[in-house]
Amino acid sequence: MLNLILFGPPGSGKGTQSEKLIAKYGLKHLSTGDLLRSQIAQKTPLGLEAKSLMDKGQLVPDAVVIGMISSALESNPQAKGFLFDGFPRTPAQAEALDKLLELKGTSINKMLAMEVSEEELVNRLVKRGQTSGRSDDNNEAVIRARIAEYHDKTAVVADYYKKFDKVVNIKGEGSIDQIFNELCKEIELAAQD
Ligand code: AMP
Repeated sequence: MLNLILFGPPGSGKGTQSEKLIAKYGLKHLSTGDLLRSQIAQKTPLGLEAKSLMDKGQLVPDAVVIGMISSALESNPQAKGFLFDGFPRTPAQAEALDKLLELKGTSINKMLAMEVSEEELVNRLVKRGQTSGRSDDNNEAVIRARIAEYHDKTAVVADYYKKFDKVVNIKGEGSIDQIFNELCKEIELAAQD
């Protein structure tokens, strides 16, 4: 199996690159943000609880996203690999993911960490807010809160995977195709390991 984490702050291009990567490598895309937005659209109790936090730019509780990932892994037994996008976002989520994958006899091959300057992130998210329909994209204070959550709680997740020598940094600025090619180079190296 090939299991990858696409990592980076909000607005670093994870969603855009994920779509291209899953098409090329036939991986199952698991985005906790997308899973949560689908719960919100279905107006489930979980969705309602998550929405109030997401609208403030705060993370939802670990147990909620770990539970969603656990059932997504179980309901995709035939997948040839997974691309995790927006997950794990805390060290507790990273540890839980390792355990879930271990139960399936597999593990994370690589974390691809996309690096983008803060001003570029804010510009991209403000622009995305004009068309995305995402309530957390159309308010600059919420955008900045999401970036702050990333620095406070999520950036350390890269340190967790660095201990296992699994992190590669990718410059997330440039053309979409340029960045995609850099990601592909690293994925092909990871697949050979
Ligand atoms: P995203 O689509 O990845 O930008 O996520 C949108 C929002 O969903 C985040 O700002 C969080 O409120 C919530 N969220 C998504 N993934 C996670 C996660 N792994 N842990 C906690 N909250 C998450």
